[in-house]
Amino acid sequence: MDLRFSEEDEAFRREIAAWLADALTGEFACVKGRGGPGDEHALFEERLAWEKKLGSAGWTCVGWPEEHGGRGLSLSRQVIYHEEYARAGAPGRVGHIGETLLGPTLIAFGTEEQKKRFLPKIVSGEELWCQGYSEPNAGSDLANVQTKAELQGDRWSITGQKIWTSGAEWSQWCFALCRTEPDAPSHQAISYILVPMNQPGIEIRPIVQMTGTSEFSEVFYDDAGAAVDHVVGERGQGWKVAMGTLAFERVASTLGQQHMFQNELEAILQIARENGAAEDPVMRQRLADAWIGIRIMRMNALRMLSHAEDGTLGREAMITKLYWATWHRSLGKLAMDVLGPASEMAESAPYELTGLQRMYLFTRSDTIYAGTNQIQRNIIAERALGLPREPRPAPPPKS
Ligand SMILES: Cc1cc2nc3c(=O)[nH]c(=O)nc-3n(C[C@H](O)[C@H](O)[C@H](O)COP(=O)(O)OP(=O)(O)OC[C@H]3O[C@@H](n4cnc5c(N)ncnc54)[C@H](O)[C@@H]3O)c2cc1C
Repeated sequence: MDLRFSEEDEAFRREIAAWLADALTGEFACVKGRGGPGDEHALFEERLAWEKKLGSAGWTCVGWPEEHGGRGLSLSRQVIYHEEYARAGAPGRVGHIGETLLGPTLIAFGTEEQKKRFLPKIVSGEELWCQGYSEPNAGSDLANVQTKAELQGDRWSITGQKIWTSGAEWSQWCFALCRTEPDAPSHQAISYILVPMNQPGIEIRPIVQMTGTSEFSEVFYDDAGAAVDHVVGERGQGWKVAMGTLAFERVASTLGQQHMFQNELEAILQIARENGAAEDPVMRQRLADAWIGIRIMRMNALRMLSHAEDGTLGREAMITKLYWATWHRSLGKLAMDVLGPASEMAESAPYELTGLQRMYLFTRSDTIYAGTNQIQRNIIAERALGLPREPRPAPPPKS
């Protein structure tokens, strides 16, 4: 297996690196390194302007086919793009949910009208999306969603509650899982509906997280409206579409993210050298382990790419979320241990945290969102290793 990038790939690397170095100056110098985990509210307007700048230069949605406004980049070039993006210290993307989740789902399952209506505004950064899946009683057990959508003339009327909706506050649209077929079994009862967020029937209540910010919200729907033709896939077949989105989420989140991790590890190493933590033999061991872990991630990513046929990742991709989430959560803990007592002090009143403190607090959630570690292990056991399926609880009797 050849793990090297081709000369053409390296030329592409130079092109994107040069563009980023030039673009992240002047009015955009301030967004460098901002908007990462736990820092999502930072310089939002500036990062929105950055999203539009990327879009107008053709640097959003780079893996999408050209006919849908992307660049049709191969997986290896997408990795290069993400590597250079992180290496340049470019900011957390405000449009990432539309680009990585909704867009690929529409390309795979949407109607021509839906693609024409929604994809261009994701590419240009004009419309931001959020994901309305989880509910108070439907997380890992997603098929239990209870939010209802009823067809009333030419509109869906949606009533119910979603929770943990990332970016709800700044999104114009949400792709929501709603129960549309009350008498059907769960997997044929749910539809995948595109809902405008700015309407009277929707109330967004931000949830304050340990970081002091609100990356996600509770969202209450009370006769909220959605257009009749804004169902993706067949009515009642939203489960299949939703699983498509989750597959994109689990794979897309891995591409090239190691460079962001590398930047964090380097910051930790720097502190360890300065404050003497690197002299401690146990700490040295843990720092070396973290360094090794990041190399393993890279080797595994390259191995996946070299096995990818027709742009489709093989089953070894299934270990990626479990591996990086566990590694990154440990890195957060390592950062605090390297900082020692300073890790417990806020930079200034009332609760101004450093980047590493925010990272530590946010990484507690890495092993939860986009499928918990336990759910990832079930996926690996059942789909990659072919072990017997976990017993599923019997559906509750109908009242
Ligand atoms: C930072 C963050 C952002 C998020 N953003 C969004 C978003 O934008 N949109 C959205 O819809 N959701 C979002 N979520 C929600 C996320 O998808 C859920 O938290 C996740 O699916 C787990 O569901 P739950 O919280 O209800 O936990 P539960 O499903 O109640 O799980 C509780 C515990 O039980 C374990 N467990 C559950 N079922 C099994 C099983 N079958 N086998 C073994 N163990 C099991 C779990 O692993 C976990 O440890 C976000 C979550 C976080 C933390």
